[in-house]
Amino acid sequence: MCKECYVDQSRMTPLLNPLECLKNHTQYICGTCGRCICIEYDPNRGLQRWNFPFKSLEIAKLYLRTADYTEKRPCGIYELKSENGRISYKIFASNEDLKLYLKKNKGKTCEKMASVFSVEEYQEFPNTQVRRLTSGEVQKYMSER
Ligand SMILES: [Zn+2]
Ligand SMILES: [Zn+2]
Repeated sequence: MCKECYVDQSRMTPLLNPLECLKNHTQYICGTCGRCICIEYDPNRGLQRWNFPFKSLEIAKLYLRTADYTEKRPCGIYELKSENGRISYKIFASNEDLKLYLKKNKGKTCEKMASVFSVEEYQEFPNTQVRRLTSGEVQKYMSER
């Protein structure tokens, strides 16, 4: 597992429309393994990719580093259940943020009321970059996938 971005598949992201994402969105470029993680802020919705719900814990883990980096603290992945019983995973900066979300989303519950995954402490790394890729870097990254 990469000590900086918490997963061992260093070209796993972006998951959806990778070319579009790499070309047009600001990326967190892991200084340790080189993995690019979308960290684009959508000003219309006030959200980044990591704010959205994920289908599985594994997918949520792919984005956890961008949450930690943005919040400068270890964020948690929480398991949520919707009214129809569907399970999803969502990243929150704290238990308080989870509680706020549950208050606003009455159909959702979190059985444990605790995260199912988080890292122990937040760390910064010297070679991290947060920026758009050049077209040459996009091509190289895509070829390595
Ligand atoms: Zn993106
Ligand atoms: Zn990494």
